[in-house]
Amino acid sequence: MAATDRGGAARPRVVANLQSSGNTALIREILKERDAIAGELRMDEDGEPAFDLAILDAPTLARSRDALQRCRAEAEPRILPALLVVEGSAGSSRRAVRELGATVDDVLRIPATREELRARIDNLLRLNTLSRELHADYTRADRALQGANRALRALHAGNQVLVRAIDEQELLDQICRVIIDEERYQLAWAGFVRDGDDPEITIDAAAGDSRGYVEQIRLTRSEIGDGPAWRAVDTGEVMVVKDLLAEPTVQPVRDKLVAYGLASAITLPIRPRSGAPGVLVIYSSVCGDFDDNECDVLKRLAGNIEFGLNALRTGLERDRQKEAVRELAYSDPLTGLPNRNYLVERLDGLLSETGSDRHVAVLFIDLDRFKIINDALGHVAGDTVLGQIAQRLRQVIRPEDLVARQGGDEFIIVMAEPPRSTEWRAVAEEPGGFSAAAQALAARLAARLSEPLIVEGAEHRLGASIGISLYPDHASGANELIDCADTAMYAAKNTDDHVCMYSQTISARRHRRLSMEARLYRALGAEEFRLHYQPVFDLASGVIEGVEALIRWPQRDGTWVSPGEFMPVAEETGLIVPLGEWVLRTAVAQRAAWLAEGNDLMMAVNVSVRHLKQEDAIEGMLTAIGDAVDPTRIELEVTESSLMDAGDRVGATVEALHTRGFRVAVDDFGTGYSSLSRLQEMPINTLKIDKSFVAELGGDGRGAVISRAIQQLADNLGFRALAEGIETDHQRRLLVDQGCRVGQGFLVSGAVPPEELIGMLGHRFESRQGA
Ligand code: C2E
Ligand code: MG
Ligand code: MG
Repeated sequence: MAATDRGGAARPRVVANLQSSGNTALIREILKERDAIAGELRMDEDGEPAFDLAILDAPTLARSRDALQRCRAEAEPRILPALLVVEGSAGSSRRAVRELGATVDDVLRIPATREELRARIDNLLRLNTLSRELHADYTRADRALQGANRALRALHAGNQVLVRAIDEQELLDQICRVIIDEERYQLAWAGFVRDGDDPEITIDAAAGDSRGYVEQIRLTRSEIGDGPAWRAVDTGEVMVVKDLLAEPTVQPVRDKLVAYGLASAITLPIRPRSGAPGVLVIYSSVCGDFDDNECDVLKRLAGNIEFGLNALRTGLERDRQKEAVRELAYSDPLTGLPNRNYLVERLDGLLSETGSDRHVAVLFIDLDRFKIINDALGHVAGDTVLGQIAQRLRQVIRPEDLVARQGGDEFIIVMAEPPRSTEWRAVAEEPGGFSAAAQALAARLAARLSEPLIVEGAEHRLGASIGISLYPDHASGANELIDCADTAMYAAKNTDDHVCMYSQTISARRHRRLSMEARLYRALGAEEFRLHYQPVFDLASGVIEGVEALIRWPQRDGTWVSPGEFMPVAEETGLIVPLGEWVLRTAVAQRAAWLAEGNDLMMAVNVSVRHLKQEDAIEGMLTAIGDAVDPTRIELEVTESSLMDAGDRVGATVEALHTRGFRVAVDDFGTGYSSLSRLQEMPINTLKIDKSFVAELGGDGRGAVISRAIQQLADNLGFRALAEGIETDHQRRLLVDQGCRVGQGFLVSGAVPPEELIGMLGHRFESRQGA
């Protein structure tokens, strides 16, 4: 390190080697003021030249030319100048210059003045100094360049990591790895501040030959809180420690630094927008590394890590938000179940990954009687019920099945056959095995859903209708499968167990139903409906006291669509309201017409609960009935099942109509589940004993007992009992015997057009005479 050590201020060393002792003395004399006299043309033990200038004459140069050239080659790019001194005749000096001139940098002909000699020597020494300085600069620049280069390579590789990393750990691991892989850094680690009683920088990622070091140290605030890592965290400034062993703040870990060959380090703060601050520390095994250029590049690397962390954390936050939005979009807040959207998406996914050799069943569940509870007890109770139902559904299905709320009181379950379960393969391999499994699940669901529910302290019973569709048998898409199951569910309402598997017939029936809806609208507009009247007669005498108006829908081809077929559709679609008003209007007008002819018949009109539920039911009905009518001669029939479940509004409407003088009959009595207390509270005039009991009169069924019980109930509560569906005289007699006074049935007549009824008014039982 001679050149660097001596610097520009050191005395140049000159070799002066001339044959002529006079010349040598002269040169020594000139030099002695400033320059050191060197001995030989050689390199010293450091590999540095032992001289800065050689002054030689032709014979000495010829002798030492090899040594000079060796030294010059080794010293490159520094220049070791040589001055050739020539004496004598012009001819001999010219020859010497020709032979040796190429080896030297200058030639001085003697005799020459001392000034001339001094000037030449100074010039050559300047050349040496200049070349030495250039070399020092070059070495410095080269080292800086190399540092910056490796930092740049690390930066570039780091950027590749940034764009690819999918989580923070991966990002930090990879960054540390590329810092090491790209260049000869000894160790790189990244850590973040963890708060606590004694805050600590915990190292999350490390790479490098010396990574064992990080396992040996703990960067607690108390132990090494003023070390470069903590200082970088605290100040946000980059810290460079060119000589770690000389750094007082790292003394606690000095031994370990030595053991792992860590000589210099750079600590770069990492300050992501959210979360704890951290630091990236890179070590070199060489003292004095990390110059300004390298630092700048590494700073950018740290900045990029911040950027990467921010991006990941923002991404994470965005993902969290997306998840929240997804939850909102895909779940039903009331029950916590997924909603239909979610189910459709999952089902479509399932079907697309499922070959047609795999089976999927969709079960569409509609709660029976839920609307009744909801109307009677209010929405809060209704919501509680739905929550309880959702819980039951979850309990019944397997974890791999899906359950979703379709809306209202409808739920959908997807039962997928797991691909590799032996148990299920066995089921599926049997013919119809999967279908049977789906039906078994439906039966379990139906059983569970029909167990009593406790709502607001009272016990309620719901039921469920369940339709099933199968993939791949019935459809191949999610929406189509759900539609099929929905169709089957409608059909299920009319089956005994309320479970139904989809089929083409059902589909056809459903289509009929849908087209029925359209036809009903048209029929109402075109006044296609007719009212027929069934006589209500005194059971003992046969005298016709009144009639029940029954709706009829004649078709162009001469057939009739029975009310049992179209009334439920009218109820479902809401068409029942205008239809019911039309019935009332027509029946009242008919009664008025008969009255005008002198026949004062009691007119019974069936009213649907769905109609009574309308907010403006009373006004609508009163408008339809008109003022000119005696309400005490109009009996409004409401079926027992719907009336008892109908809730307060219907009760209030019936009450209001009764207060206005209208009579009220409970139709099909005995088929519903009337509570006696409820019956007692209601403004009832007539209980109509359902025809199913009358049909059993005289047989071994329980009809007779029930019929008698209804009779007694009516007697006790002060209601009139009216027997429906009397077809035989035997039934009539038995009814008379049990104390029933009025009835209707084919025994006298079915429902007939109004003009036919007039002819019946003279009707009397012959048996009366005998009675
Ligand atoms: P409902 O009110 O119980 O009417 C009695 C039903 O029994 C009528 O059937 C009648 O034709 C039938 N029937 C009468 N006598 C006998 C008999 O001796 N034996 C048998 N087996 N059946 C007999 P229909 O006309 O088919 O009506 C069915 C149901 O449709 C009615 O039952 C009623 O609930 C409803 N309905 C009919 N017309 C109307 C209406 O204008 N408005 C409303 N809301 N419902 C109506
Ligand atoms: Mg009726
Ligand atoms: Mg009836």
